[in-house]
Amino acid sequence: MADVRLVLRSTRVITPEGVRAASVAVGQDGRIDAVLPHDAPVPDGARLAELGDDALLPGLVDTHVHVNDPGRSAWEGFYTATRAAAAGGVTTLLDMPLNSLPPTTSVDHLRTKQDVAREKAHIDTGFWGGAVPGNVAALKPLHEAGVFGFKCFLSPSGVEEFPELDPEQLEAALTEIASFDGLLIVHAEDPGRLTAAPQRAGGRYADFLASRPREAEHDAIALLIDLARRLDARVHVLHLSSADALPMIADARRDGVRLTVETCPHFLTLTAEEVPDGATEFKCCPPIRERANQDALWQGLADGLLDCVVSDHSPCTTDLKTPDFADAWGGISSLQLGLPAVWTAARERGHSLEDVVRWMSAGPARLAGLAHKGAVAPGHDADFAVLAPEETFTVDPAALHHRNQVTAYAGRTLHGVVRSSWLRGEQITDHSRPLERKGQLIARPTAHRAG
Ligand SMILES: [Zn+2]
Repeated sequence: MADVRLVLRSTRVITPEGVRAASVAVGQDGRIDAVLPHDAPVPDGARLAELGDDALLPGLVDTHVHVNDPGRSAWEGFYTATRAAAAGGVTTLLDMPLNSLPPTTSVDHLRTKQDVAREKAHIDTGFWGGAVPGNVAALKPLHEAGVFGFKCFLSPSGVEEFPELDPEQLEAALTEIASFDGLLIVHAEDPGRLTAAPQRAGGRYADFLASRPREAEHDAIALLIDLARRLDARVHVLHLSSADALPMIADARRDGVRLTVETCPHFLTLTAEEVPDGATEFKCCPPIRERANQDALWQGLADGLLDCVVSDHSPCTTDLKTPDFADAWGGISSLQLGLPAVWTAARERGHSLEDVVRWMSAGPARLAGLAHKGAVAPGHDADFAVLAPEETFTVDPAALHHRNQVTAYAGRTLHGVVRSSWLRGEQITDHSRPLERKGQLIARPTAHRAG
C-alpha cells in the first residue's frame, strides 16, 4: 500500500461483483491497487476523495465516435469531442475512420490523425481503420500500427472518399482480416433494399423511416452472419436499430458464430412516434424506429444479445441539418449525454446501474480488447465516472461541449448528473467543467502486452 496516492470512497461503488460501499485505492502508476472496505484507513500521503452516496462507476468506453478531425473539424474535433466526452463520464473513445480528411484507410492517414489528436485529447483516444475498395493490402499494416479493427459500409456512407464494399470486396476484406484474427465492424444496411424502398423528399419523418426499412438491416446482417460463419471471422454489427434481427443474431451466437452487436442511446430512448416533422436533429441511419421496436431492443439487452451501448456521436454544422430528411446530414450528437439518457430509460424499465456499466463500459472495453479498462477492479486503469444517479437536469444545448450545440435531447429532463471524471487517477472534469488535459493515444493491445 506504500505507493497509494489516491483513495476514492463511496457508499456505491459499481464493481464486477456488485454494488458495495468501498474505498478504491489508486497507485502511483494510475491503476487501481485495491478495492478496500469503506472504512479502510487512508494511507499516509494519499489524497482522499470523499464521494458520499454518489456512485463510482468505471469510466465509460465509447467505441463509436465520429470526431471528423482533421478535414471536417467544423463538425467536431478532438479537442471539443474529448472534452464533451469527459464531461459525460466517458474516459476512452475510439474514433471512426470516416468523415475526417483523410479517412483512416492507410497507415499514413492514421499517422496524420494521430498527430492531430495527440495535442488535443482530454481522454484516452484510439482509432478504427477503414476497409474500402482497393485497400486490402493496407489492412494488415494498419492492424500492426494499432487500429482496433476495420469499419466498412455495404451501402453508401454519405461521403465520397469512403465508398462501400460490394459483396465480393467484403469477402476479400474479411478473408484478409480473418488471416490475422482482426475485427470487422459493419454499418449493416443492404443497398438493394434501400434502393427499392420509397424515397420521398421533405420534412415528414414517416417518409424518411419508410426509406430505411427494417429489411435492409435484416438482409445485411444475414449476409454478415453467413460470412462470419464460413470464414470463422470476427464481425461486429454497428448501431443495430431493427429488433427484427435479434432472433437471427441469437441463433448465430448459439451456433458459435463470432458475432457481436451494439445499439445506441437514441434507439433506446427516442421513438419515431415523437419525432416532429422537419426535426432532422433526429435523423440517423439506420433510423430511430417505433416504440414497439424499442421495447424489443431493451429485451435484447436484457437477454444479453446486445454487447454494448455506444453513442454513434456523428455531428455536423447546423446548416447541414436542413428541415428535409432526405437532404439533411444524418447523425445524432450525444457524446456528453449518453450516460444520463440511457440511465434515465434503464431505471424506468427496472434496470440497475450495474446493467448500464455492463453495456456502456465493460462491454465496449471487451469489444476493443482493452483488458485494463471498463471495471473498478484491481489492476485496471483508475478511470472513473462519479454519478449522482437520482439527481435530474434539463438538457440545455448551450451547456454542451460539443463543437456544434445541436442535439435531439434538447429540453429533455434526464436522471444522472456526472459530478466528475477521472483518468488514470487524475481528475479530468469537475461538475462538467474540463480540467487539465490528460488524454493519451491508445493502440490495440497486443497479446504480448495483455494481462
Ligand atoms: Zn457511426
